[in-house]
Amino acid sequence: RYPFSIPPTARAQRLYSMKHSAPQLKDQSLFIEKAYINGEWVDAKSGETFEVHDPATGKLIGTCPELDTSDVEKAIQAASEAFPKFRTTLGRERARMLRRWYDLMMENADDLAKLITWENGKPLADAKGEVNYAASFFEWFSEEAPRTYGDTIPASVPGNRVITVKQPVGVCGLITPWNFPAAMITRKIGPALAAGCTVVAKSPQETPFTANAIAELAHRAGIPKGVVNFVTSSKNTPAVGELITTHPEVRKVSFTGSTNVGRILGKQSASTIKKVSWELGGNAPFIVFDDVEDLDAAVMGAINSKFRSSGQTCVCANRIYVQEGVYEEFAKRFVEKVKDFKLGGGFEDGITHGPVIHERAANKAHEHVQDATSRGAQIVVGGQRATALGPNFYHPTVLTGMTKDMLLASEETFGPVAGLFPFKTEKEVVDLANHAEVGLAGYFFSGNVRRIFRVAEALEVGMVGVNTGLISDVASPFGGVKQSGFGREGSKYGIDEFMTIKSITFGGM
Ligand code: NAD
Repeated sequence: RYPFSIPPTARAQRLYSMKHSAPQLKDQSLFIEKAYINGEWVDAKSGETFEVHDPATGKLIGTCPELDTSDVEKAIQAASEAFPKFRTTLGRERARMLRRWYDLMMENADDLAKLITWENGKPLADAKGEVNYAASFFEWFSEEAPRTYGDTIPASVPGNRVITVKQPVGVCGLITPWNFPAAMITRKIGPALAAGCTVVAKSPQETPFTANAIAELAHRAGIPKGVVNFVTSSKNTPAVGELITTHPEVRKVSFTGSTNVGRILGKQSASTIKKVSWELGGNAPFIVFDDVEDLDAAVMGAINSKFRSSGQTCVCANRIYVQEGVYEEFAKRFVEKVKDFKLGGGFEDGITHGPVIHERAANKAHEHVQDATSRGAQIVVGGQRATALGPNFYHPTVLTGMTKDMLLASEETFGPVAGLFPFKTEKEVVDLANHAEVGLAGYFFSGNVRRIFRVAEALEVGMVGVNTGLISDVASPFGGVKQSGFGREGSKYGIDEFMTIKSITFGGM
């Protein structure tokens, strides 16, 4: 059906045959170097493309269309034309479409995972986990689609009756990052389609091929043309972003990415007063109190939270605060675990951690390490680039003796660097935790039930993990406070981000 999607360029064809640079997919037609607009795979009108590279090897994976605003305008028009019909589709029919899309993601899970590892670098096992998590949003929202109930409200005006209905907001512009190439997209598209919205999704320039494979599965699932559009761009992204956030036909913008880009998109979206959701950066505190019941569980919680995806998750522990009574023992056991990590390409057997996404990310990790050591922290393990593996590899690092004046205390590292901060009292650590301008996730380990409630309520974050380092779950609302943004994804709340409430008042009853 898509002859061009079976490695379309000569260069990509050659790459496909080179072992170690290109995984063999069971279904090669899921590797697509195009953009998806109005139910068709297209190139940029200009013919321009941008290159995508494997972060582990630096080798070219392929190219994608460098769409400009005139191309993206077509995607917005397609979504706009598809909306009137799609919004009136029965919730149960939209549910069936999402369910088919979910089934196709699960049937093609191995290929999707390979694409994620290839372009993002995370170990294949983690990529498989991401595919399950990503697909779960289609399954979950297929169940929510038929249940967008309104209310019957006792009126306060005699003779009146009031009801509410929930309606889809309209065309949605969705912009997502590379760190979860599949899940960040499905976490937005699932609820948008369940609500009856149509979408234009701008995929990340580092990881467009996972997005394109998901788009192809939408096509196979029978999602009507124009309902989902996937656009690709690299250098044109600021202009494309401006078009999406200022276009009068786009009624909602949902963005996941850095706080800085969120600020730009927020200003732009204000011009047409759009409904918006911002899922922005974090700088999660991870606190271990002396009264922790199971120190090994706390160590594993910190390991999982800090080092998953080489520290490139928005909810990953950035500041690990350990109370004085358990500090030394926690540090010892934590370091032992980190020493066992095996760094390498995501497809290699036995590796536990892959590269970071690009050299800039490795540089940032190193900058945080150097800043900390220049202010008195000690490197216990790591602390340098793994140059033998390539420019994008950074040794998993543990620093002790951290203090609040260090860069890592105030900035998201987004890399495999763990800083351990000693503390004395609960009040001191809650103040330190809340000192950040952002507030996405926070974690703590304690066996004292009164403290558990006190601290969970006091932390200025959108999500708290108590005695666990893993909090992502389709059933649980995901989102932040302060400069981590607002809006919630997943759970029963996620669909509301894509709906408006209309009240209807009946007089003279
Ligand atoms: P980023 O903000 O640089 O990019 C995110 C997306 O925005 C990409 O698709 C990029 O192409 C696009 N973009 C960049 N500039 C744009 C512009 N001017 N107009 C329109 N689009 C633009 O972030 P990143 O480095 O790709 O991702 C890492 C960041 O994302 C981290 O800060 C992380 O914490 C955050 N994040 C947050 C969540 C969450 O749920 N809160 C989840 C994952 C990642």
